[in-house]
Amino acid sequence: MHKNFKGIEKTVFGRGAFAQLGDILEERRQDNDKFMFFVVDNYFKGKDLEKKIPAKPQDVVRFIDVDPEEPTTQLIDSLRDEILSKKGLPSGVVGIGGGSIMDIAKAVSLMFTNEGSSTLYQGLNLVKKPGIYHVGVPTISGTGAEVSMTAVLTGPTKKLGLKCEWTVFNQVVLDPDLIASVPRNWWFYTGMDTYIHCIESENGLLNNAYSHSYAEQSLKLCREIYLGPNSGQTPENDDKLMVASLMGGLSLTYSEVGVCHALSYGLSKILGMRHCYANCIAFNHLHDYYAEGVTEFKEMIRKHKIDLPQGLSKDWTDEQITAMANVSYNLPHMWNHAVGPDWKDKVTVKDIEGLFRRL
Ligand code: NAD
Ligand code: ZN
Repeated sequence: MHKNFKGIEKTVFGRGAFAQLGDILEERRQDNDKFMFFVVDNYFKGKDLEKKIPAKPQDVVRFIDVDPEEPTTQLIDSLRDEILSKKGLPSGVVGIGGGSIMDIAKAVSLMFTNEGSSTLYQGLNLVKKPGIYHVGVPTISGTGAEVSMTAVLTGPTKKLGLKCEWTVFNQVVLDPDLIASVPRNWWFYTGMDTYIHCIESENGLLNNAYSHSYAEQSLKLCREIYLGPNSGQTPENDDKLMVASLMGGLSLTYSEVGVCHALSYGLSKILGMRHCYANCIAFNHLHDYYAEGVTEFKEMIRKHKIDLPQGLSKDWTDEQITAMANVSYNLPHMWNHAVGPDWKDKVTVKDIEGLFRRL
């Protein structure tokens, strides 16, 4: 069986594209209870962008602090319950922020029409009805959350996406002006998520001409942004990074991620480490799986003088390491892609513990 996925319905790309958001939403304003629900990264509270949000008096604009933790099922359920009880069903949800806000917008759009807690729907194709119209406006690039068919949520028992066709955005607004203010470390860690998506997508069983073409182009852009003679956080590179993120996301959608993401999920679940940062921490030590990619990654680290701690595992207990290894081991699709169908003969929980001890 080959993957058969729905893509984003509409995409606008270009500097200043955010100014078109009002007109884009206008077409949908008569739907449901005739108001828009904006979910915005708290970083933008009091900033210029806040004034440019095309909200009307009947709309709800909610600023959310994504820093203490990645999106939880509890946050999604409470947002949904509150809006439904106070205002009714929105015409649409607009997420303005990074991967965390993208996931919140996608998840809440689905939960407006699906009863019960979002914990019921963590997994593949468990969502029963299409969600409401939803728009993604990324303000930091790299995760590919703007294009993916999953909304990753941390629940009481698992960190897993609401993954189905209806998760994908109806509209995405890609305005490179919006990512200019990203702090340098985040610019690096989140951008590296794209780089790692491509390296993992390319190095495995499920790679094919379609996923490869996206990865190839995305890697070319990543190299220009992080290694080329004009590398660095410039407007020109911001244009490229927005496109690289999208293409990296498409590449992995039609292929798969691998060992680094398997470890990263363990770090996030057990230690609460953030996705993109956790990827960098793990990738740095995966030379035997992705030799060329890791060499190049280290060059990028050096070039941009990024602070990436090592020797972290000496502060972890054996129990934590085993727990992380178990989280990773339980991602068979990633190991299958990276190592092969006989991966269980080649990789044990003990081996994965060994990988964590390197970090
Ligand atoms: P994020 O949304 O977690 O934000 C990271 C930091 O950058 C925050 O402090 C935020 O306030 C700040 N920020 C965002 N935009 C900014 C701007 N323009 N200027 C200044 N600061 C800004 O970042 P992320 O790395 O994009 O997302 C990580 C999340 O994405 C995780 O929750 C992860 O689980 C999720 N994720 C989802 C997918 C998917 O396919 N759905 C894929 C990978 C990761
Ligand atoms: Zn990732």
